[in-house]
Amino acid sequence: MTGRGGAIDLFTARFGGEPDAIIRAPGRVNLIGEHTDYNDGFVLPMAIEQATWLALRSRDDRIVRLASEGHGDVDFSLDNLVRGIDGWAEYIKGVAWAKGAAQLRGWEGAITSDIPIGAGLSSSAALEIAGALAFTSASGQEWDPTASALVAQRAENEWVGVSCGIMDQLIIATAEAENAMLIDCRSLGLTPAPLPGDVAIVILDTGTRRELADSEYADRRSACERAAEAAGVSALRDLSIDDIAGLALATDETALRRARHVISENARTIDAASALEVGDVGHFGELMNDSHRSLRDDFEVSSDALDLMVDIASDLGGCLGARMTGAGFGGCAVALVRTNSAAQFVEEITHRYSTASSNEPHAYVTRAAAGANARQRGDRTT
Ligand code: ADP
Ligand code: MG
Repeated sequence: MTGRGGAIDLFTARFGGEPDAIIRAPGRVNLIGEHTDYNDGFVLPMAIEQATWLALRSRDDRIVRLASEGHGDVDFSLDNLVRGIDGWAEYIKGVAWAKGAAQLRGWEGAITSDIPIGAGLSSSAALEIAGALAFTSASGQEWDPTASALVAQRAENEWVGVSCGIMDQLIIATAEAENAMLIDCRSLGLTPAPLPGDVAIVILDTGTRRELADSEYADRRSACERAAEAAGVSALRDLSIDDIAGLALATDETALRRARHVISENARTIDAASALEVGDVGHFGELMNDSHRSLRDDFEVSSDALDLMVDIASDLGGCLGARMTGAGFGGCAVALVRTNSAAQFVEEITHRYSTASSNEPHAYVTRAAAGANARQRGDRTT
């Protein structure tokens, strides 16, 4: 069982008694602005309804005891953080390390989640932000969403050893219900962008998982750095569409195409946030379609399964736009669909994709959810 009740039940079964706080940290989907975050650029994600829940009780000592449904139990001491020995709990240990373990108190916590793992909906960042909220709550600290996102990103980069930008942790910590969020990955400036009620976001899991993604990711990053260096700027964020012709003379063909994606994607992302501001969902959908083509042809991070899903989606009634989302090479696509067509859309795409592919699709209609929060037990609001 997932959700708030599932986490409380697991807590009681594992640790006995009652938790004193319940934390919710949502997954996220990026609507547009892909592979722009590590180029100091713009992204436009939103938090989703699927979430990781953590029921916890603080302890008087420096022991952290964890149980996660389907993942097993792990205990560790804040006095002796050893890296790399505890599997999934490394995400929580990394947060303790990045926050400064000396300042923290122990707790026991039970975790449940309905965010699919490894699908690109950022179950890892949800776990990190849940952990950051748990340490904050158990140690009587103030919750600072942006600072905590930076701590969680450092845990993932330096403790777990996964190279990622700031988008996932920051949207999970700061999201507002019914809004996507334009994030400036250089300044960490946040601008909410309203999602009208007459459109739904549909997440389309291709049933494939990314492979070779680490080396491909490193390769894309270095091509972007090469292009920025050739242009004499610190990041591709500093270039505009007009600079692309000049860049062609300064760098190699591959770096040029990678840069063309990033530069055009930054422009599309800003344009997309403005479109939401004025309620122009038709234009927003076109920008999603353009983003997919650019990721497929210039950045080359799509896959046959993602292209198939996006092609089918684009063909269906009520679909305003669709694209791959996340790092690529598998995982999910995302579609913007008229709310009154969403149920039919899900049925049709599931049928057509299953027929055309050997992979099992999953389609979820979701809404823009609020960011992570902690509630003391007894507080009935969710
Ligand atoms: P994603 O795209 O979902 O973030 P990652 O590979 O980055 O995929 O992270 C998935 C990993 O995060 C899992 O293998 C596991 O170690 C950890 N994780 C995520 N959610 C949970 C959870 N609810 N309980 C335990 N571990 C989790
Ligand atoms: Mg992850």
